[in-house]
Amino acid sequence: MLLALAACHGQRTTMSVSPVTMTQIMTPDNDLDTIHVAWFVDHHRTTPDATLVLRDGKLRDVRLSRASDAIDLGNVAIVPGLVNAHTHLEFSLLPKPIPTAGDFAEWIRSVVKYRRENPDIVSEALRTGILESTRHGTTLVGDITTSGWSISDYAESHFSGVLFQELIGLSEDRITSQLNSARSRLEANRSINHPLLGLSPHAPYTVHETLLRSSIDMARQFDVPVAMHLAETESELELLTDGTGCLRNLLEEFGLWKEGLFGIGQRPQWYLEKLAECPAALIVHGNYLNDRELQFIASRPQMTLVYCPRTHAAFGHPEHPWRRVLEWGGRVAIGTDSRASNPDLSIFSELQFLAKSHPGISHLELLKLATFHGRRALTGSGHDRDGLANLTAIRLSDPGFRDPHRDLFAPENQVVGTMIAGHWRFLEGHLPIQWQCRKERPNAAQKCSLGSAGLQRTGGLFSLQRVLWKQKNQSSPTIMRR
Ligand SMILES: [Zn+2]
Repeated sequence: MLLALAACHGQRTTMSVSPVTMTQIMTPDNDLDTIHVAWFVDHHRTTPDATLVLRDGKLRDVRLSRASDAIDLGNVAIVPGLVNAHTHLEFSLLPKPIPTAGDFAEWIRSVVKYRRENPDIVSEALRTGILESTRHGTTLVGDITTSGWSISDYAESHFSGVLFQELIGLSEDRITSQLNSARSRLEANRSINHPLLGLSPHAPYTVHETLLRSSIDMARQFDVPVAMHLAETESELELLTDGTGCLRNLLEEFGLWKEGLFGIGQRPQWYLEKLAECPAALIVHGNYLNDRELQFIASRPQMTLVYCPRTHAAFGHPEHPWRRVLEWGGRVAIGTDSRASNPDLSIFSELQFLAKSHPGISHLELLKLATFHGRRALTGSGHDRDGLANLTAIRLSDPGFRDPHRDLFAPENQVVGTMIAGHWRFLEGHLPIQWQCRKERPNAAQKCSLGSAGLQRTGGLFSLQRVLWKQKNQSSPTIMRR
């Protein structure tokens, strides 16, 4: 974010890397095609003691009780794949959030400084962020991209989601170059439908009216979604209305302030009316939208409000208005925002946070925001693309678990599996299943197992050759029986 406000140069700083490793990502495998779990839960039904039948990567059936050939995953709930509707994966190497205690402009200064001092880490950050997202059960991501990335960073990491090219510009030259760059990206990838592409005019304080209008025209021409930060802070509203405050100071500091651009009494409503012309529009944050603006979003099926709960809390904003949008029949999706304002990229943790802070709301309602709504916002459909299964497996801490409405996002529950487009991309060692592995050296195949502490290395690096035994073909299966 805001990389374009200043040139990127300087020395790379020392940082720690997320503990996620490639050994935690499974090779594509469809052997796990009939599984038994304690619960199958989506936003409109709960099925205890469920057998899931997967064929050709698609969820074909959900049956009551355990089928005789089913592999038992134990006390696990399978839910539709979680969706992170808004993040910036380029900050995924940050070991902890940038302090948010000062004013918003101060936080932005720190973000820009970080990117200036780390110009060569984007590829590594993206790949780490994708792995971390998968590790947390996320099956679809809306990522804001700036510079220094390539499609291979995403494709080689099995990324599933939408890349929103960020556009920032207040001067004529800058606007032209940003639009040319975005158009080139869209044209070059016109025939590629994976990953999906989108556009992200950054925010009112960094996007000239001309850039916004042209971005929207381009989005219509290429039929791609648009994401824009809007009404994130009171200082943004102050800038739009009065042309004063800490964001004005910031723009002056970067030499971007121009008389007449701001302080002309605009409200976020002006931006919403423009964004409503997009094929799909994600309104990111919306922390300070008024009721009229919230109703405007709620009444337009192409618009989604994206709420980032822990980031919202970290900045100390007043209560977020997301429930009003739902009450008025609109759509709300959930995002983590980036590691610049959040300790991790876990949508599951966002849901646990919401469940704790809103004890009266059914966890199935929360699940809908992070699955159906998010998928609809990013892809135009709330359902799995091409029918390929996207699933998240949650280990239930309570052996007597009975109420998904109240306990699905209990604090001790945790994500233990992630299926993306019909392939298990992650399956945690807590599952009582034997794994077959091989060392990197050829002909060194051996068996290993996963213990409660995770993958047990048996000397040297190994990669997973086949994820699961074909247990149903084993004479004496080693899996846990319930
Ligand atoms: Zn953001």
